[in-house]
Amino acid sequence: MTWRVRKLTVIAICLLSLSAWAQNWTNDPKTEKRIDSLLKQMTLEEKIGQVNQYSAGTPTGPGTGRTDYDDMVAKGEVGSLFNVTGQKANDFQKIAVEKSRLKIPLIIGLDVIHGYRTIFPVPLGISATWDPAVVEKAARVSAEEASADGVRWTFSPMVDIARDARWGRITEGAGEDTYLGSAIARAYVRGYQGTNLANADSIAACLKHFVGYGAAEGGRDYNTTEIPERLLRQVYLPPFHAGIEEGSATVMSAFNSLNEIPASSNAFTLDQILLKEWNFRGMVVSDWTSIAETINHGIANDGATAARKSFLAGVDMDMEANLYWTNLANEIKAGRVPMARLDEAVRRILRVKFALGLFDHPYADLSRTNTVMLSADHLAAAKMAAEKSFVLLKDDSINQVPVLPLKADAKVALIGPLADSAQDMIGSWSAAGQAKDAITLRKSLTEKLGGKLVYAKGTDIVGESEEGFAEATQAAQQADVVVMALGEDAQWMTGEAGSRSELGLPGNQEKLLEAVEATGKPVVLVVFSGRPVVLDWASGHVPAILEAWFPGVQAGPALTETLYGQNNPGGKLTTSFPRSVGQEPLYYNQLPTGRPAGDIDLSKPPTDGATKYKSRYIDQMNSALYPFGYGLSYTTFEYSPVSLSASTMTAADLNAGKPGITVTAEVTNSGKVAGEEVVQMYINLRGTSVSRPVRELKGFQKVMLQPGEKKKVTFTLGRDELAFWNIDMKDVVEPAAVKVWVAGNSVDGQPAVLTVQ
Ligand code: BGC
Repeated sequence: MTWRVRKLTVIAICLLSLSAWAQNWTNDPKTEKRIDSLLKQMTLEEKIGQVNQYSAGTPTGPGTGRTDYDDMVAKGEVGSLFNVTGQKANDFQKIAVEKSRLKIPLIIGLDVIHGYRTIFPVPLGISATWDPAVVEKAARVSAEEASADGVRWTFSPMVDIARDARWGRITEGAGEDTYLGSAIARAYVRGYQGTNLANADSIAACLKHFVGYGAAEGGRDYNTTEIPERLLRQVYLPPFHAGIEEGSATVMSAFNSLNEIPASSNAFTLDQILLKEWNFRGMVVSDWTSIAETINHGIANDGATAARKSFLAGVDMDMEANLYWTNLANEIKAGRVPMARLDEAVRRILRVKFALGLFDHPYADLSRTNTVMLSADHLAAAKMAAEKSFVLLKDDSINQVPVLPLKADAKVALIGPLADSAQDMIGSWSAAGQAKDAITLRKSLTEKLGGKLVYAKGTDIVGESEEGFAEATQAAQQADVVVMALGEDAQWMTGEAGSRSELGLPGNQEKLLEAVEATGKPVVLVVFSGRPVVLDWASGHVPAILEAWFPGVQAGPALTETLYGQNNPGGKLTTSFPRSVGQEPLYYNQLPTGRPAGDIDLSKPPTDGATKYKSRYIDQMNSALYPFGYGLSYTTFEYSPVSLSASTMTAADLNAGKPGITVTAEVTNSGKVAGEEVVQMYINLRGTSVSRPVRELKGFQKVMLQPGEKKKVTFTLGRDELAFWNIDMKDVVEPAAVKVWVAGNSVDGQPAVLTVQ
């Protein structure tokens, strides 16, 4: 080795260990010593100060009445502020680091959910990309923009599994599946936190809402959840665990009561699972006043009890309830809360502040906002994410030609209340997003088509007036093809407190659709929604349907390119689309029943014993209208039979850590244009100690194929894929008869079989 090589090697080793040091924020001896030293200097009030968080801006829930933030921060009575950005955020920080006795910086948070200023598709939409790299990039862009504006902590990702489309917050997550949800959770954390939390453009992630919030009974927000431990561990917890393994600095405790104990004072999930079993070293923040709400849940009759129960269970920081501030000193003095618990909570909060480098660089360099916000790179990423999120639900041929992509010379009528609604394009929780940044479908189609486009709003999103129907049908009559932009109101009908008891197109939009369809012109329905919408009528009547979610600032260009075929849609559903609301909760990975309904045509009333006494409705099929994993393309894909590298394995070998087998299928682009396919592997286990789902996703890969191109896609099937929480509540592989599908959605394909002995 020459001296030069040696020198370079030494530098490389130093750099590597420096980055390893910086990354190991969870257990860095130097940081822990600095925390020890601060804890020694802190008064009881200063310690309690750290465990409080207040909203200093637009509230996202009922307030607490405290507004004297300057004074509170100067006295060290606040650990975190949120809903404050830019110069105001820096001003508060200046008070914390210059006026407070110990100069402990604030950690400033905000709900940066799907972009900061550059708004991406809503999370449910972006999950339909099935592309962790796209999610990671969206989170990176969000972090670069938010951090430039003083925000170093986002309350995202929401990793709640949602099996009920009535729940408004289904829009904030990655849908119904645990395996996909875990991969996406990791991607968000990587994107937000970057290569090193201490970088000025990294922000701390927050996995929420711990735990079970998505299982709200009846889909009604904030409602009760009852989740048996096996289901909790198998379905609801893994995305949190994945995010923590990826290094998420924080977790938010949920509003719901879980198995009769509010999630924000649930010692089993917080203390036992999160802290003890998973060894989480970051901090837990409550949800907005969720500590006070434990009184409404009925497990505390006063604020002191509520504060004590949540704090002892493991919630380190009180968001907005002000109950830690008003009660913890007394609780500690009375011996009901040990000082060691307070020290632990403060340590966790300070650990995250140190990890973010806030002690050394407390301020945001606001000049960065000029270059990062809505930068060309960020807009390109938002457009690409939107394009990949669209799910083609239907594309019938008329005279042997599919309706989509549209022909360049066709005269188009654009109709519907979502065609030109910039505010709806940016979805709910749009941080610093502004409607004026969003390009609507009308705007970009007008640019493309000029006089060949005729537009009519037709109706409002909600309302019964049919005044605009005549103009809409006239517009249709003048055109060769109609694009209808229908769907939900993003702000009111989706997101927090946006639960619905009906899932059809709101107002009289379906009536408008029927009127336009009756003109005989081919209709392309573009659906904007934050959840599955019931499209039963549309699916039977209009030739083409594209699910667009709320696509973000680049809605118009992304949709226009998709409608005209410059982008071939490759998104796949991450949530089942029901035929009717009564099917909810509806999810593909259900357990088998003792009386499966099979393939009987359930649209007809049962007439005999063979069809009646089945697990079914008398008036509806069991299956989804559009199932999980489903999505078409402008091309077609063919799958070869599944091949396995071996047809037997033993549970003992797998449990001992021996590798599993490989599963391979060949996928061919059998159509005429290039396209991306999400190749999905599903399994089913039978003969196990507990009943296992009819199908479970255990692998996916995206492949880009040119026309005629074939690719072998290989998956691993081993311990990680085959283990489950068994009858003894052990996460192990058991002997089983196994079916394995490799297919383009959760219902198609022929399984290969193997045995785990
Ligand atoms: C929501 C959280 C959010 C918090 C802060 C709550 O109402 O449930 O998801 O992070 O407000 O805005």
